[in-house]
Amino acid sequence: MKSALVLGAGGFIGSHMARKLRSEGYYVRGADLKLPEFSESACNEFFKVDLRDIQNVHKVFDLSGLNFESFDFVFQFAADMGGAGFVFTGENDAEIMHNSAMVNLNVLEVMRFQKAANLNFQTKIFYSSSACMYPEEKQLSTANPKLSEDLAYPANPDSEYGWEKLFSERLFLAYNRNFGIKIAIARYHNIFGPEGTWRGGREKAPAAVCRKIAEADKQDSIEIWGDGEQTRSFLFIDECLEATLTLVRNQEFNGPVNIGSEEMVTINELARVVTEISGKNISLEHISGPLGVRGRNSDNRLIREKLGISYSMSLEEGLRITYDWIQEQVEKQRLN
Ligand code: NAD
Repeated sequence: MKSALVLGAGGFIGSHMARKLRSEGYYVRGADLKLPEFSESACNEFFKVDLRDIQNVHKVFDLSGLNFESFDFVFQFAADMGGAGFVFTGENDAEIMHNSAMVNLNVLEVMRFQKAANLNFQTKIFYSSSACMYPEEKQLSTANPKLSEDLAYPANPDSEYGWEKLFSERLFLAYNRNFGIKIAIARYHNIFGPEGTWRGGREKAPAAVCRKIAEADKQDSIEIWGDGEQTRSFLFIDECLEATLTLVRNQEFNGPVNIGSEEMVTINELARVVTEISGKNISLEHISGPLGVRGRNSDNRLIREKLGISYSMSLEEGLRITYDWIQEQVEKQRLN
């Protein structure tokens, strides 16, 4: 039986990945500070632990009682994470860097220990890096801000979240070079879909816009940070999972590689698409707020060339599914 350990299995991407792996017949162990918020965990077993403590990391890697010698895959999604309202204010910088780096340091160190103790150790670990690690100066314009992987250096991410991702990419690469730990790294560009954070300050643009419009009256206005002309691309969760699994299963190519959509829109356009989906007549009120870079889009040449991946779902299709789910959450909240 194939087996996987999903770190961050209580979060958005981790809980979807656990469900997908189970549906493909994997034995799945999950670990996170918290259980998934919006549905039952699909994991066979779930360790509710803090991975900043290395003793807990030893426990989640411990296979006594199970009938396989090492996990086939580890998915490392656990991180201190949020949208612009959490990452770009500056108030959470030390926490973000400390917490996420500590988890990555612990996980790789435990894998090194396990590999030294077990000749049959074959586990490959996937690391979820982010487009936030690309240099700020490549993203100052809304016109053609396509980020190919080779633009990463000289480094200059615009947030400490991005610097931590860059450091951890290098950490994974170093453990691969020095200790032979098998790795795969993707740089995610704005993944969205149902069961993602949709309120509370850590939600990202698609969820925030869907929530504001779902909560609005038929003829209402919603607030958009900045002039709304900043550009981004958004990839639906199902396509992210498919691409991630294709990457980890590939024997030759380990990344780092972009996993993101090339369908770039302004935040104003994003709001217009969601307005149409909602059937409401929503106007936009632009206010000051944390913005992040001016323009960002994925460049998918490398993933097409190395893994043959091209995405088929339009932004609108993904937003329809996401809007319906968020509208349901808003209704539930109203009834409570
Ligand atoms: P998420 O916040 O929903 O999930 C992260 C999970 O990690 C949370 O459930 C959290 O409780 C857990 N976690 C944090 N610290 C922990 C600790 N000390 N011990 C145990 N668990 C801990 O985020 P997500 O959107 O699912 O993102 C998953 C990964 O992908 C993250 O590493 C994130 O940086 C990366 N990423 C995501 C996106 C995106 O658009 N969602 C984009 C780029 C990169």
